[in-house]
Amino acid sequence: MTTPSIDSARLWTSLTEVSRYGATPAGGLNRLAASIFDGQARDYVVAAATEIGCTVRIDPLGNTFLRREGTDHKAKAILIGSHLDSQPLGGKYDGIYGVMAGLELLQSLQTSNSVTTHPIEVVVWTNEEGARFSPAMMGAAYFAGKFSAEELHSRTDVEGVTLGESLRAINYLGSDFVSPDQFASYFEIHIEQGPILEREGIDIGVVTAVQGMRWFRVQLSGQSGHSGTYPMEGRRDALAAAAQIVSGVQTIGLAQPEIGRATVGHLLVTPNSPNVVPGNVELMVELRHPEVLALNTMTDELHALLKTVESRTGVVIEVKQELDSATIHFTPELIDIVEASATASGMSSTRMISGAGHDACQIAGLMPLTMIFIPCVDGISHAENEDITQVWAANGAQVLVEAVLQVDSHLK
Ligand SMILES: [Zn+2]
Repeated sequence: MTTPSIDSARLWTSLTEVSRYGATPAGGLNRLAASIFDGQARDYVVAAATEIGCTVRIDPLGNTFLRREGTDHKAKAILIGSHLDSQPLGGKYDGIYGVMAGLELLQSLQTSNSVTTHPIEVVVWTNEEGARFSPAMMGAAYFAGKFSAEELHSRTDVEGVTLGESLRAINYLGSDFVSPDQFASYFEIHIEQGPILEREGIDIGVVTAVQGMRWFRVQLSGQSGHSGTYPMEGRRDALAAAAQIVSGVQTIGLAQPEIGRATVGHLLVTPNSPNVVPGNVELMVELRHPEVLALNTMTDELHALLKTVESRTGVVIEVKQELDSATIHFTPELIDIVEASATASGMSSTRMISGAGHDACQIAGLMPLTMIFIPCVDGISHAENEDITQVWAANGAQVLVEAVLQVDSHLK
């Protein structure tokens, strides 16, 4: 079968139309998981898929599966997934592009009367961002059997509203049983969220792995006091100590050029008052690196840094590791297929590692899988000015169609 050409204008229209739901004045998106806007965006995608004859399944976590049948009814489906939720002030493409490219795949197959052996199924995962309900990548983690539905339904947002009641309110509290053993392989297509593809003028990122990451919660206990009377000598200022940690963490990241990442993105100062010497600070350190040995080195450096700051400042420092997410390697055969599909579609490509986590991380180990990246402007993501071009969007969708059809014809 010749690969159908995707319809670039149709894809761009879908992307534009779906970004109405939760649009912010600055051109971004505020579409929290299981919000009214999330429901409207899902309704849009479901309507477009049913219009071309797809069937819809919704599981108890609201994961929404859009299925186009193949000729072999016993064959496992090829799954393409992403998310429609955003950060509170997020962009229009993180996640959303992956769903709309999947929809465009279904539409292209339909309008070209293409026949596949395997069913093709596009899934909208619930709550990838974790901005309203914790944890992130929740829907995919549920699908992977890491949580029960009851456990996740009772999770609350800052207003005390549960995920379960939110899903019911938008009509996405489903009861369909969908499990990993119904699927043969998994693809996820996403914006890069980094600057490499645009900078190098490359159309397609062939993603080989998602880098590992560790989170550490650090508590600093010093001594509060009146800022006007407490002498400078002998102060145990928790924030001044935290500043040394922030700076030291940056040094740890810089010592791993290109690939390593070290960030303090959360800081809580108590009492946080201009005329009080800060007695307590809580901060979170995040370390990322695709190689476990380097991640171990960075971890050792962090512990050494905390010891040094403690003895230098007299502030008591306690640290607790809260997350240890190993590097995830994608399936070599599928990586090769994506690379060959880019070439077959006339696109340039490069192999790369994902710095960010994705729903695909939850699917690893359940079935063969891989990811495809397209460029985004200036590498900006999780921001309202996140942007892509119509050409980039179309290129990615075309490679996705090619890769899925390759898998369809190669799979038993
Ligand atoms: Zn995403």
